[in-house]
Amino acid sequence: ATPTAVMVATGVGANNGVLIKGGDALERAQKIKHVVFDKTGTLTQGKATVTTAKVFSGMDRGGFLTLVASAEASSEHPLAKAILEYARHFHFLDEPFATKDIQSHRMETNFSGWLLDVVDFSAVPGRGVQCFIDGKQILVGNRNFLTENRVAIPSHVENFVVELEESARTGILVAYDNDLIGVLGVADPLKREAAVVVEGLMKMGVNPVMVTGDNWRTAQAVAKEVGITDVRAEVMPAGKADVIHSFQKGGSVVAMVGDGINDSPALAAADVGMAIGAGTDIAIEAADYVLMRNNLEDVITAIDLSRKTFSRIR
Ligand code: ADP
Ligand code: MG
Repeated sequence: ATPTAVMVATGVGANNGVLIKGGDALERAQKIKHVVFDKTGTLTQGKATVTTAKVFSGMDRGGFLTLVASAEASSEHPLAKAILEYARHFHFLDEPFATKDIQSHRMETNFSGWLLDVVDFSAVPGRGVQCFIDGKQILVGNRNFLTENRVAIPSHVENFVVELEESARTGILVAYDNDLIGVLGVADPLKREAAVVVEGLMKMGVNPVMVTGDNWRTAQAVAKEVGITDVRAEVMPAGKADVIHSFQKGGSVVAMVGDGINDSPALAAADVGMAIGAGTDIAIEAADYVLMRNNLEDVITAIDLSRKTFSRIR
């Protein structure tokens, strides 16, 4: 392709919200063999919502939700935000002594006066959060996290979690003072275009892959919905780059599409890193492409643009 053709393609991309960082990136995209998608916030909308909260101890619902929300209050994770939102709704819509005005003011201002004091908070990537409330340890996270902390998961609780996972939801387990006290189910719907894009890539001879820190069962359920058969689940944040390297063996050109801080090592490791959506600054920095519209169709646009620009007329 001539320098002019590259300039034109870059301009066409920019007009469609596909920012391409240089001619090399534009050229590499035509040869993409595998596209590795992050699950949360990339294939899914990244708008997690709590759909179920089940208490397994004698604790009342409000007390349970206050504990969990307090533990998650310092976390930036989308799951934490979903839990806080759910607990806030529960309290402010049920609060008997507050007027409607006070309730809505508190909802809008993120009033946090209802949360409990937390000591020794820590967030464990790919696992969950832990802290102390009233002198007792609370753990909120996936089953690996609880098991590693020697919390026993009774079989009726495990069954409930499996049920959530089979319907593509993520089960979040809560232990307080070493007892499993409850489980929350969180759903994060697929982006509307996700399945069509996956099908389109396969028609172009490109292999779609999903990678996630989420558990295997939820990952499989989501993958099935979107039409992806190649899944890597329970991948720790640092492990996503290793997944990319495993596909690069044998010289295949690999693209990574991701949105979060967790994804930047994988975006950098990929031959073509694509940051999607508003993204985080660090993800945008690590990427070769920025897909501004937060629409997965632009993965296809990007590959098409490269193929058209570099296809030789024989
Ligand atoms: P992803 O790859 O889907 O972005 P992460 O690596 O951020 O996922 O997290 C993987 C898993 O770790 C989550 O599905 C959840 O089970 C657990 N987890 C991480 N952070 C939290 C948190 N703040 N609260 C509860 N669970 C969490
Ligand atoms: Mg993500």
